[in-house]
Amino acid sequence: MLKSHYFYLCPDADGSWVLHKKGCSVLTGKREKRFIGSLYTTHQALAVARVHQTRVICCSDCLTSSERPAPRQAETQRKKAPVPLRHYGNERKE
Ligand SMILES: [Zn+2]
Repeated sequence: MLKSHYFYLCPDADGSWVLHKKGCSVLTGKREKRFIGSLYTTHQALAVARVHQTRVICCSDCLTSSERPAPRQAETQRKKAPVPLRHYGNERKE
């Protein structure tokens, strides 16, 4: 069961636009905001937002990373951290 949310775009200082969900505390303080539509997912809202503006980023406050696609983790890059073996047999701190 998906619930729709109202999404807004706010201009950011560097010329990009920030995507917000209605009710966001950041959004409340903004003077300029543009309603882009009632959508079900952040992904969907982002797609719509990018039709209007080329540079759109998600608000880190209301659009948490849980809805974003997780970055792919390369299995091969799993680190085997080499543990340096040190042979300071008699090292002491005094
Ligand atoms: Zn927000």
